[in-house]
Amino acid sequence: MNKGNVVDMKYYSLNKHSPVVDFKEATIRGLAPDKGLYFPSIIPRIDDSLLLNIENTPNEEIAFKVIMPFVGKTITPEKVFEIVSETINFPIPLYQVNKNIFSLELFHGPTMAFKDVGARFMSRCLGEFVKDAAKKVVVLVATSGDTGGAVANGFYGEDNIEVVILYPSGKVSPVQEMQLCALGKNIHALEIDGSFDDCQSMVKKAFSDTDINKNLFLTSANSINVARWLPQQFYYFFAYKQWKEKEHPPVIAVPSGNFGNLCAGMLAYCSGLPVHHFIAACNANDAVAQYLIKGIYYPKPVKHTFSNAMDVGDPSNFVRIMELFENDHKQLLKITSAFSISDEDTMVTIKKVFHDQQYTLDPHGAIGYMALEKYLESNPGLKGIFLETAHPVKFPGIVEKACGIKIKLPSQLETLMQQPKLALAMKAEFSVLKDYLMGI
Ligand SMILES: *Cc1c(COP(=O)(O)O)cnc(C)c1O
Repeated sequence: MNKGNVVDMKYYSLNKHSPVVDFKEATIRGLAPDKGLYFPSIIPRIDDSLLLNIENTPNEEIAFKVIMPFVGKTITPEKVFEIVSETINFPIPLYQVNKNIFSLELFHGPTMAFKDVGARFMSRCLGEFVKDAAKKVVVLVATSGDTGGAVANGFYGEDNIEVVILYPSGKVSPVQEMQLCALGKNIHALEIDGSFDDCQSMVKKAFSDTDINKNLFLTSANSINVARWLPQQFYYFFAYKQWKEKEHPPVIAVPSGNFGNLCAGMLAYCSGLPVHHFIAACNANDAVAQYLIKGIYYPKPVKHTFSNAMDVGDPSNFVRIMELFENDHKQLLKITSAFSISDEDTMVTIKKVFHDQQYTLDPHGAIGYMALEKYLESNPGLKGIFLETAHPVKFPGIVEKACGIKIKLPSQLETLMQQPKLALAMKAEFSVLKDYLMGI
């Protein structure tokens, strides 16, 4: 891993068989031609003065300083400042739940889950990059839930970009569905009569279809895109900004599925952000947790759990984590521990924290909380933060059952649920999708 000053950031493919590219190319492509994930050629060093003055530095300025080395010369500094300011124009508070445990609330954005930041940043960067594209630009995604909403919201109203989202009929929650279907304008929701895998396979076929690619400039907005991954570093700086005991940096627990969020935190740490230890908080999908514990990695079939945004059997960002720690299990273990938490324990934790602390967790945050608590129990004297990645109202069934109360929809969601549903029902057949895309 190269550290140091960045003059002109390049990205290489982790499969090592594609040319290096700049931030613009990496964002437009998503994956490298050899199907590898892009990785920054240099890990920038954070200015000590930023860390020393962080409490008095506005969030936009922190975000700007963190992201600028990664953007390089592909967008002007003025425009980058404007983009990050829009990306994070909502609160990201650190809430003290009990003596030793704090919650970094990442659910105050428009779709009430942490993916808003990455999606908003990426959509604005892509908007800059395709301003003078010769073909119509279409972002094509399949979603099983949260990603689609964050992408739809992030790209809503973006000039020159159409967004087509496929979702499996009846398999996303009512709120998630309306987050895709209430917007209209440049957001096209396709309700597929099939499973998430059907949606994904239709999208894959579209990407390799010659006719479609002749007509349109197709791109994806999935979570491995550098423009979605890198801005997640902001959370960790905002956490540190609000952390009172700077001389004792926090333990940070991250509810993890595809491991993009945790990997962004580790990148911030490698750039110089003080963190005492990371906790990879997993549900029953524990491939990475098992690797950390046993040193052997093997992907597993997906198990469905209450924390469905973390149901990933073979997390994409694992390779980025390994690259950051030079493929050295021991180096990674020094700074990271992992816990796998069951659905049963998720319920117990939501109930316990609601009754003891009057704080309502969502199932993902509950896994972060419990993993952190376990670590602190065996390492007394430390304090930590878990990332609360979604608002509990997004998972009303589970949270109401655990707490024994009815949770009220915030007014923002009530309004959303009363909108007309603008979705086009479609058979799970590629030819139908192709006709649709050719006519867009
Ligand atoms: C996506 C998501 C996660 C997992 O994040 P990764 O970066 O994929 O590890 C956790 N919680 C919620 C609510 C999510 O939407």
